[in-house]
Amino acid sequence: MAAEQLMVSVSGIRGRVGAGLTPEVVTSYASAFGAWVAAADRTKPVVVGRDSRVSGPMFHRCVIAGLQSVGVRVIDLGLTTTPTCQLAVEHHHAGGGLMISASHNPIEWNALKFVGSTGLFLDAIEGTAMRSLVGQPFARATWERLGLVEADDEAPLRHIDAVLALPMIDGARIRARKLKVALDCCRGAGAVIMPALLERLGCQVTVINLEPDGRFPRPPEPVPENLGELERLVASSGADVGFAVDPDVDRLALVANGGAAIGEDYTLALAARVVLSQRPGTVVTNLSTSRIVDDIAARAGGRVVRAPVGEVNVAIRMREENAVVGGEGNGGVILPELHLGRDAPLAAALVLQLLSEGEETLSEIVSQYPRYAIVKDKLDRPPVALDAVYEALRKTFTGAHVDTQDGLRLSWPDSWVHIRPSGTEPIVRVIAEAPSVDAARALVARSREPLDALTA
Ligand code: MG
Repeated sequence: MAAEQLMVSVSGIRGRVGAGLTPEVVTSYASAFGAWVAAADRTKPVVVGRDSRVSGPMFHRCVIAGLQSVGVRVIDLGLTTTPTCQLAVEHHHAGGGLMISASHNPIEWNALKFVGSTGLFLDAIEGTAMRSLVGQPFARATWERLGLVEADDEAPLRHIDAVLALPMIDGARIRARKLKVALDCCRGAGAVIMPALLERLGCQVTVINLEPDGRFPRPPEPVPENLGELERLVASSGADVGFAVDPDVDRLALVANGGAAIGEDYTLALAARVVLSQRPGTVVTNLSTSRIVDDIAARAGGRVVRAPVGEVNVAIRMREENAVVGGEGNGGVILPELHLGRDAPLAAALVLQLLSEGEETLSEIVSQYPRYAIVKDKLDRPPVALDAVYEALRKTFTGAHVDTQDGLRLSWPDSWVHIRPSGTEPIVRVIAEAPSVDAARALVARSREPLDALTA
């Protein structure tokens, strides 16, 4: 059964607890990661963190044991967020980081994410080199050379301080507004950082699902259909904004005043508006992100560059383009001045900055921009290469702008369709965006035709 297998990608492994993901698997990957770090520099530590998942403490012990067994020093953050772990790798000049988190995936999953010495997730070359060590008979440390373990409890505080020290965050101005915020942490790791950050910014916070016990009360992906409880809280508390973070706190979704979730695409778009107003420049996002980012960047005088799907692809392109801000349409905002990783505390501070700069409410700000509909579809991957499909689609849609970095993306001034094979599942994704649901559905339907012909 496919679902019982371990899913291996460039920068991590993921599986269902007790099926694909076992203590043996996690320990063997952690040892290999430690051996890979030690091969580059034997003196460097590895930073370890976990989100709140029920299986987190078990896999946390496995990861630490695996690293110690190859003589690597461990800096243990315990319960933490993915961006906090990435920042701690940089802070400690570590050789890498291991974050135990299945991010927004359902409760039965857990995963390991591999962070390199720069604080970025491993890229394809690093990931391949590291994975080649898994299961190899590399040297284990004898008793006197086992890696030592030290705790670092200050990482969330340093993370908050770094966000508040950013020149585009005017803490005094935000505090003066005494903004009302409703917060939903989905019983994830948000508890270790989000309330403290919002308090430092003078917000009046009402919170739900703060207990970091991993017993998610709803599907943890912060998409509008999962945010009903937060929508009601925003309405009943009269909040200026609702913040929902995923369990490892790299994604932020917004609920506008009044109580309507506005979709995760707006998080990056609004964060980019704040950054571009102070730092004109380039925004990098992926090929499947809403064109609301293009609209907001255009009005703010910025330029948008699109990278293949995957956080590390966006981060690497940001470095190449010297981008001022970037991220993904799933609520992940990246600010290179802070670090090259998706960061929900950063995104929250930027949204509060936006609200503090004028008198408009969030719903008024959103209403200034065009609305789009995104339709997502997927189908089984055909047993042949998709080149013929791409060729057929380019003939069907003559006149479209063509991008072949990651599957095929065809775009027009107000719409696009993106056809790409998934990196982790045997499926092809077809995503379209247009000014109306009907138009987006029609784009998906026409793009599926040559694919369906292959699988029929
Ligand atoms: Mg996440």
